[in-house]
Amino acid sequence: MVPVPIKSSVTAANPPEATPYPVRMLGTFHHPIPLDAKIHIAGHRGLVGSALWRHLVARGNTALIGRSSSELDLRDREATFDFYADQKPDYVVLAAAKVGGILANATYPAEFLSDNIRIQVNVLDAAQAVGVKRLLFLGSSCIYPKFAPQPISENSLLAGPLEPTNDAYAIAKIAGVIQVQAMRRQYGASFISAMPTNLYGPGDNFDLESSHVLPAMIRKFHDAMFDGRGEVELWGTGSPRREFLHVDDLANAAVTLLERYDEPEPINIGVGTDVTIRALAETVRRVVGYQGAINWDASRPDGTPRKLLDISRIRSLGWNASIPLESGIESTYDWYKQHSTVLA
Ligand code: NDP
Repeated sequence: MVPVPIKSSVTAANPPEATPYPVRMLGTFHHPIPLDAKIHIAGHRGLVGSALWRHLVARGNTALIGRSSSELDLRDREATFDFYADQKPDYVVLAAAKVGGILANATYPAEFLSDNIRIQVNVLDAAQAVGVKRLLFLGSSCIYPKFAPQPISENSLLAGPLEPTNDAYAIAKIAGVIQVQAMRRQYGASFISAMPTNLYGPGDNFDLESSHVLPAMIRKFHDAMFDGRGEVELWGTGSPRREFLHVDDLANAAVTLLERYDEPEPINIGVGTDVTIRALAETVRRVVGYQGAINWDASRPDGTPRKLLDISRIRSLGWNASIPLESGIESTYDWYKQHSTVLA
């Protein structure tokens, strides 16, 4: 097995060449998930977990297991081990995490590191202890180095300095990727890691204190339209480029990977194209119907200048995203309108 390479000579000013992992071994592993397999979706009420739950139900899976954080706090090691000993799932998707945008990451870095490390270590250790057959750990595109060559291939991980605004979260997630590799090496565990790009969709977080950029735009435009305000302020310059994947596509990719991918290297999940934040704002504005001004506050941080994933490895498994950005935003906005009185 090939561990993630660590390139110590690489600096922000001297970024590494983008050399994707070889794809030669992909495509041979194929183990369909049985419809009666016991699948623990950790974080089943979150954006990713709820989409995966919907997807598996629609697929015909009948033995899904979910617990809210108040029923089972995965930071609690003893409770997590007791739960796994009791349930003995066949499959696990680890979609429970402390997640947030720039503001939340900047405000609570200690919790982003501590909570995520504890959740991961407990779930991975407990899953290994009870012999879980397959586990999917979710990393994130924002844990790659700030100046990674674009599009970002999987071997950019650990090849340069991180984006300082979310370094605590990134270090926690990187620890999870390495733990998955270590458990494969030491125990022969069939655990894998995936690196999704920015996600959005029904069930997203629209709280302006902790949300990601796309739902924050929906909320701001929607509120401004109904408050009658003539302007909306958005953070940064609007120039960074970002990639956005609908969470229903992510759910489909997660199942594909559990069935068809069994390698130590993390695997990217994205759409293969990106847009500027300014272009995204125009699309969201169009979908919401907001016609007032947009003021860009350039004193706020932009974050990483560009973040587009190299998705050649997952494409080699025959997987592609299928939901176009504008129609994905439309269904997300529809969901928000149905739930906005509860979310307000
Ligand atoms: P959400 O914030 O929507 O959901 C997080 C889930 O984690 C919630 O269901 C929550 O449970 C659960 N959770 C949090 N803390 C605990 C805890 N201590 N014990 C048990 N459960 C807990 O996050 P997402 O769905 O957006 O993210 C899921 C995964 O996907 C994360 O690992 C994230 O890093 C990754 N990812 C997300 C991206 C995105 O754009 N959203 C992009 C790339 C990766 P409850 O609701 O019951 O409190």
